[in-house]
Amino acid sequence: MPLDFLKRRGNENDDAAPAAPQAAASSVMPEEIVAQEYQLKLYFAGKSSEGVRMKAGPNAMNELPSMLAGLAKSEIEVVDPLPIEFSEATPSIVRPSEAMQWLNAHHALSPITRHALVVLESIDAVDLAFDTFVCAMLDGETDTSGYPEYNAIVGGVASHWDEATGDMICRAVVGWGGRGVRGDTDRIGAKLLAGLLTNVLASQYALGITSIERPVPAAGRGGLVCAHCGFASAHERAFYCPKCGMRLLRG
Ligand SMILES: [Zn+2]
Repeated sequence: MPLDFLKRRGNENDDAAPAAPQAAASSVMPEEIVAQEYQLKLYFAGKSSEGVRMKAGPNAMNELPSMLAGLAKSEIEVVDPLPIEFSEATPSIVRPSEAMQWLNAHHALSPITRHALVVLESIDAVDLAFDTFVCAMLDGETDTSGYPEYNAIVGGVASHWDEATGDMICRAVVGWGGRGVRGDTDRIGAKLLAGLLTNVLASQYALGITSIERPVPAAGRGGLVCAHCGFASAHERAFYCPKCGMRLLRG
């Protein structure tokens, strides 16, 4: 074909008409356009149990990892509430300032915990403004980079301090998700949630099931600094330090 084209070009008498209409046709809008479709469906899901009121104190705090005993299939990691300099942290890459805070806060965590935070923060099942989150792999596999597959279940126990009483409130939290969904994951997740709640209730500090009133993060800048552990709280209404549970003293 290229040879034919060259031959024609050198011959003035040759009719070059077929080439011209072709070029013109490409600039005319066709009646129906041909679109190439692209799509990515992400599916995140999770479950959170009722809360269990615990006798407050650092001992109860130290016992959180043991509540994953018999269920954790990876190393158990403890994620503390975020101090005020990370109050905007969000796992959303298109918001660079929020994403940067999130990465600075969590880059040292294991791939499993980071995956769990992306899933559970995206669906609002965990809020590190006041939650302490104890996390591990609970079911399924990781890929070759160590990140959980979409049908793997991650989670553990989240705790916060009840703003009314100062008691520690614990709840079981599980989550999963990514590029796909499997029919039996929800059922396995429910089973794991029950197992975790059983462990929480079995703690020597457990006082019983309670309704959860999660603290409301403040709109403005908080900045109360805990006199006991030095933690700068991200929400100004916090009555108890999100990290150590001691009463915050207002200046
Ligand atoms: Zn404190």
